Amino acid sequence: MKLNSETLARLPARVLRPVYDRRRVRQGIVHIGVGGFHRAHQAIYTEQLLQQGQAMEWGICGAGLRPEDRAMREALVSQDYLYTLYELGDSADTRIQVVGAIGDFLLADEDRPGLIARLASPQTRIVSLTITEGGYCTDDDTGEFLADLPAIRHDLAHPEAPTTVFGFLAEALARRRAAGVAPFTVMSCDNLPHNGRVARNALLGFARRRDPALGDWIAEHVCFPNSMVDRITPTTSDAHRRRLQAETGIEDAWPVVAEPFSQWVLEDRFCDGRPAWETVGVQFTDDVTPYEDMKIGLLNGGHQALAYLGALLGHRYAHETMQDRQLRDYVRAYMDRDVTPGLKPVPGIDLTAYKDTLIQRFANVAIGDQISRIGYDGSSRLPKFVVPTLMRQIDTGAPLARTALIFAAWVQYQRAVDEQGRPFTVGDPRAEQVAQATRPGPDQVERVLALEPVFGRKIPACPAFVDAFRRQLERLQTLGVRRTLALTLAE
Ligand code: NAD
Repeated sequence: MKLNSETLARLPARVLRPVYDRRRVRQGIVHIGVGGFHRAHQAIYTEQLLQQGQAMEWGICGAGLRPEDRAMREALVSQDYLYTLYELGDSADTRIQVVGAIGDFLLADEDRPGLIARLASPQTRIVSLTITEGGYCTDDDTGEFLADLPAIRHDLAHPEAPTTVFGFLAEALARRRAAGVAPFTVMSCDNLPHNGRVARNALLGFARRRDPALGDWIAEHVCFPNSMVDRITPTTSDAHRRRLQAETGIEDAWPVVAEPFSQWVLEDRFCDGRPAWETVGVQFTDDVTPYEDMKIGLLNGGHQALAYLGALLGHRYAHETMQDRQLRDYVRAYMDRDVTPGLKPVPGIDLTAYKDTLIQRFANVAIGDQISRIGYDGSSRLPKFVVPTLMRQIDTGAPLARTALIFAAWVQYQRAVDEQGRPFTVGDPRAEQVAQATRPGPDQVERVLALEPVFGRKIPACPAFVDAFRRQLERLQTLGVRRTLALTLAE
């Protein structure tokens, strides 16, 4: 049964669906980057409010700036913007929910003036973003806005015909300023530490080059709340579509699949109002830092701890690593003894329960989270997710064996073959540089540690780390993963 407004009433009883009058919803939010994550996260919190008869002025208008967004728009238009959230979990109470929070969708390529007008309209009070980490045109190391990128240069030269997020936001804000309309809040939901600050820095970097007075006005009046967002949302596959149809009869061109867990911690800084998301489980705070540190250290760091060793042991999915007792003990020990001592108290969170939940989430069979996905781009992920823990351990003189093992396993992982001789896929945008540095040879340790994007300068200058790393790499190469884990766990 093709999903649309007409067929809603005929869906099986177990499928949740909008109970509010969708025609009465006004879109106060424009969301740029309607991929899987937005549809599984912000749109679901908003849907929950709508289901309670609240937030009728906070519906969502999707916006796509890239050619690949056309397919999503076509899929949604063909079903009156409805789509299905298909939760993948190992318990019986997973949700299948048809979502109505998105009510419109504009493509930059198709209707640039329409999109600018929508952003400039007083009806739009929040512009939210999931444009991926790379979408912020920001240098990872220096935090500087990359004004020389061709697309940015284009938008600076043609401010009225923008192509990038920052070009659109600046043009819309310029029109609002000229018309005396209050600015919207720019709410980033990308997986970046201090995502609001990054968005602000990028938008100011653009706007000040375009018109310094506009930049000053944005700096003074626009809010950019930071947020910590969390929900594993894999790419939808045809197998997911078929499974959904077999289970419910729903024929959905583009359902979204996600784990049952969901978390959103958000700074309460909005310049033109916001939905009452706190009534549907969003945690508001003045400072998102402790939540980010917790998530990055434990979830993202935990993923790094299981991925490389797991692949070498022959595992291909995250859940297999959690069924492996020894590896699970190691991951938990890393969380408890290496990461947790460096975390500040996290208001409202019981860290032990949080870690228990993480282990359960990693063990989710239904979601089928691939190690190749988690292990992708280690040269960027290790410095973001594990190096902060390591730096603190170096500063406090803590034992380094468990943390050093993550880096040593990452080096072995580059060989792309497990201990049974079976190949696996390894991906990294810096593939060539990483391959050069990690290839076996007498000076391997020195070459690896000279990889500045991963280790910086301080870590290779710490003899305790160099020793620990060398020892763990030697153990992996001579004793194998099991013996190395046993020795490390016994230390
Ligand atoms: P996706 O591939 O389904 O969608 C990505 C969207 O971003 C698309 O609409 C695309 O057009 C848009 N986009 C990409 N680059 C852009 C750019 N330069 N300018 C404008 N738009 C751009 O991916 P997703 O799963 O929705 O994830 C998107 C982001 O959400 C991630 O990069 C991450 O920051 C965040 N996130 C994802 C997850 C997850 O599990 N998928 C979890 C937490 C946070």
